[in-house]
Amino acid sequence: MVCIHCGSKTKTTNSRRVARHNQTWRRRQCLVCQAIFTTREALDYDSAIRVKSADKALESLSRDRLFIDIFRSLSHRKTALSDASALTDTILSALIADSTNGVITTQEIVHKSTETLQRFDTVSATVYTAHHAD
Ligand SMILES: [Zn+2]
Repeated sequence: MVCIHCGSKTKTTNSRRVARHNQTWRRRQCLVCQAIFTTREALDYDSAIRVKSADKALESLSRDRLFIDIFRSLSHRKTALSDASALTDTILSALIADSTNGVITTQEIVHKSTETLQRFDTVSATVYTAHHAD
């Protein structure tokens, strides 16, 4: 990782594993301008999971698309943004655990999202279900 200000090499001055989100957090310092910034290493869900749609085609999972769906379902909450981010990670972790070799179906995404939202906020689960009824 190079410095975001001057492009020079950096060193890690502190690091921590965030077990809950399976992430590694690193404090970095530029060897030239001394600037300090933080990086987070996290799983790239889009490459880890592939989605089998109704017509059997496989496509990469889009974390952004799932996040937007979850965010819209939580729009009545003041903390919708942070809630949606955390819930999206919870749903994706569960989907990976339940997947067969990293392949899941669109129905599994809808089912797991509904189940997770139901436990968190029943209104959001109702909104989500209304947009995903088929
Ligand atoms: Zn620098």
